[in-house]
Amino acid sequence: MIDSHTHLFLCEGEEDELLAAAAAAGVERILNIGLDEATNADVVAAAERHAAVFASVGRHPNDAEGFDEEAAAAIAALAGHEQVRAVGETGLDFYRDTASPAAQRRAFAAQVEIAAEVGLPLVIHARDADGESAAIDEIFATLDARAGSNPVVLHCFSAPQRVADAAERGWYCSFAGNVTYPRSEALREAAAQVPADRILVETDAPFLTPQPLRGQRNQPAYVVETARVVAAVRGVSYEELEATVAANGRSLFGW
Ligand SMILES: [Zn+2]
Repeated sequence: MIDSHTHLFLCEGEEDELLAAAAAAGVERILNIGLDEATNADVVAAAERHAAVFASVGRHPNDAEGFDEEAAAAIAALAGHEQVRAVGETGLDFYRDTASPAAQRRAFAAQVEIAAEVGLPLVIHARDADGESAAIDEIFATLDARAGSNPVVLHCFSAPQRVADAAERGWYCSFAGNVTYPRSEALREAAAQVPADRILVETDAPFLTPQPLRGQRNQPAYVVETARVVAAVRGVSYEELEATVAANGRSLFGW
């Protein structure tokens, strides 16, 4: 199994314990996602320490305030590290207002450019205010205009209305614990529709703990619960889903 999106540095417990639990659950590859300069350094260091862990470096839209050329240059420099296999997470978040839309757009545009330059996949965060779709719509428009053929991962995929549009573009949809929640019927239907060569699963730990572990802080080992639900809605065995996402992770992240 893989966890295509986690934040080990935010999880509860020691890194070694979290990774031992993940290994015991069959999780063999983890993409550890940086959010800003300090945590980008953390994820690169963790990837150097552990064979199962790889890094993505970027600036989260919620932390985009003050993003400047120096910040972009720091991400570009780290993106050349051997254990760094993606850029992000980046995108737009119109749900929280910790960073202005202008700052988010600046950081997003810069990271689209960096990913294309270094030839790494882009990890996209999209979050809209309830009942709206301005962020996801703008993300699609920006990527259509600027990302070219660069690989794109829609992390914590939560836009069932755009699942066909993502498939048309060849983008990856990565499902997190929210796909297991009782009210997420539309999202489960979307998980059934993603082409087999474009689906991924993730924890987004320590957030979005899947059923039936809700109430605990999330960790990479728990991706198996999300994978079970995704396998069930796709009408395949856990083992088949596991082989599918492992192959997708391998071809996308080169690990
Ligand atoms: Zn995240």
